[in-house]
Amino acid sequence: MLSRVVLKAIVLSTCVLSCLLLSAGCHSVAKNQSVHLPARHSVSAEQLIVLSDFKLGQDHELFQDLIKLREDVGETLNIPLNSEQVTVYLFSNQEEYRNYLDLTYPGLPPRRAYFVGTPKELAVYTFWGDRIQEDLRHEFTHGLLHASLKTVPLWLDEGLAEYFEVAGNTPGQINRDHASRLSAALNNGWKPDMKRLEQLEKVSQMQRVDYQEAWAWVHFMLNSTPETKDTLLEYLAELKSNEKPEVLSARLPRHIPGVDERFVNYVASLNTFPTR
Ligand SMILES: [Zn+2]
Repeated sequence: MLSRVVLKAIVLSTCVLSCLLLSAGCHSVAKNQSVHLPARHSVSAEQLIVLSDFKLGQDHELFQDLIKLREDVGETLNIPLNSEQVTVYLFSNQEEYRNYLDLTYPGLPPRRAYFVGTPKELAVYTFWGDRIQEDLRHEFTHGLLHASLKTVPLWLDEGLAEYFEVAGNTPGQINRDHASRLSAALNNGWKPDMKRLEQLEKVSQMQRVDYQEAWAWVHFMLNSTPETKDTLLEYLAELKSNEKPEVLSARLPRHIPGVDERFVNYVASLNTFPTR
């Protein structure tokens, strides 16, 4: 569905965020009692805190799912899980969520959820809706990555968030929508291009096809062979301390001969993967 990606979350750059924070400081939320951050209830564990105006118990499956997700992300990507808090502002409904964002960050396009990373806070804004689990998993993954790494290239940030948003017993479940669209694209002559993805710097440049290609590259690297996984993990390890390590598109062909062809074959097979 088009809305799935159009409504996807974005990661705002620090520069944009600084501006947004300045404007946020200028208004008085108290002037309008219906516009406020959820705050009545909170649940927290590890580096996650969820604030809401309705009660979400510590044992709630959504909360427990995020705690498990944190472990999965750390284990799968071999990144240190530190204590930097990720705050989830979980609004009761879309209207309250939208009202808050419109007032605080005027001009943002309507999306189901936002991850906002600033030097002061790693925050997720979303509302209770039909896609809440997927949205929370996606945004919390952004939060975990930004808590542990110095930076993450936009396309990879989204590819990893798409990868971990799919719930299941183990990471790496198939996003059926992406898999079938990629299969159709291949039949229509589509050619993957990681270098093109690496050029994308703004979320507004990222289209649905880019999200699905980013997801597929991540799935390929993490599940295809030990060499592809090692290449990704080495890159992520460098991102812990280096903002500009050598790009993945330069590393992969060196470590994996014929990587483009292997990737195409892998993508073609994704549609036939069973659900685990
Ligand atoms: Zn995202």
